Amino acid sequence: MLDRYYSAEPIQGATATLSGSEAHHLLHVMRAKPGWRLIVFDGYGGEYEAELTDCGRATVELSLGPRNNIERELPFQLTLAVALPKGDRQRWLVEKAVELGVARLVPLLAARTVAGSEQASPKLLRYVIEASKQCGRNRLMEVTPPLSFADLIESEQTSIRLLAHPDGLSLDVAEQVSAGNCSLAIGPEGGFTEEEIALAIAAGWQTVDLGSRILRIETAAIALASAIVLR
Ligand code: SAH
Repeated sequence: MLDRYYSAEPIQGATATLSGSEAHHLLHVMRAKPGWRLIVFDGYGGEYEAELTDCGRATVELSLGPRNNIERELPFQLTLAVALPKGDRQRWLVEKAVELGVARLVPLLAARTVAGSEQASPKLLRYVIEASKQCGRNRLMEVTPPLSFADLIESEQTSIRLLAHPDGLSLDVAEQVSAGNCSLAIGPEGGFTEEEIALAIAAGWQTVDLGSRILRIETAAIALASAIVLR
């Protein structure tokens, strides 16, 4: 299996140039030389087998084989709206969401979201790229600007909209949720408020209970996303 590298520039034509951390990794960690073979993708779908032709000081030139239109996306669109945790927990959440095939990650501003904690880490795009390299996805998970709870509830038009809430109606996700595009919402550490739950239900969302233990944000997000992906 060839290693996968990400081109920040959309790929056009028969050559590509890698720069930044991707070139650094090839030049200084792998000590790659001309003739080295790899897979390159640009995050817009498809991948290319490539051969390293020239090493610059901070860039690497590639000669590309034909585009392989391989897709490793889910057969439906999965949106995950979460009051983002911080630090390593945010990194873990983003990595697992990419691995499971989440198409859109929405940082959620709920009533009890702690001020500032909805901020995506500046490294978030890097987490998405690293996870995509590792798991073989050729499309990058989109991370949207933060959305208020009311805006999320009103704007999602997917056929399945689920709000994770302890004490919620115990929905058997595997048996009762049909196929189709899906939106999931996970609350902050303080949980959703009663008003938020009422607003969501009035707009056609269903609450889903994930068991008798209280899960941390990232566990709840990945448990529910897994149940949907594997249903
Ligand atoms: N004290 C809060 C718990 C928050 S846990 C409360 O009682 O609501 C953070 C978020 O993870 C919750 O808002 C919910 O979306 C999700 N979550 C955690 N454990 C869950 C469970 N057992 N069932 C459903 N959702 C859960």
